[in-house]
Amino acid sequence: MKKKFTEKTGIFSYLLKRACKFCNAPIHDKAHGASEFCPKTWDENGKVRDCKTAYHRENDKPEREIQAEYNGRNKAIKSRIDFLVKKHGDQVPTELLDTYDIDLTECMRYQIDPSGILTSYFLSYIIVSNPFNNIHKISFHD
Ligand SMILES: [Zn+2]
Repeated sequence: MKKKFTEKTGIFSYLLKRACKFCNAPIHDKAHGASEFCPKTWDENGKVRDCKTAYHRENDKPEREIQAEYNGRNKAIKSRIDFLVKKHGDQVPTELLDTYDIDLTECMRYQIDPSGILTSYFLSYIIVSNPFNNIHKISFHD
């Protein structure tokens, strides 16, 4: 299939073997040097066919989605911490974190000091965990 575009077809030649980054259609040699996409065209229904826009939309999407997912997850954990603190106060055992489905590994960042105290940063909250007595101190931060 691809081979036929390497030969001269009609008025355009495709010797440069350029292809649209979105749909892989060949781009003829006379197209602007920087052309990486098919030219924008409209079909008989007036519907635009724009590979460049489509390509960037598709490539932007995963990152946007990942970011939205991450934000959503952080907010969900924050509201579970809200409930936990309201009901049980700001010092809780590990079992309660489990009950409220607060997974310390899902924090935004963390640090462990030399004595083994783990500090986990969540949206609006910091949880300081003492591994020796399994007590977690929860404090609010901006
Ligand atoms: Zn294209």
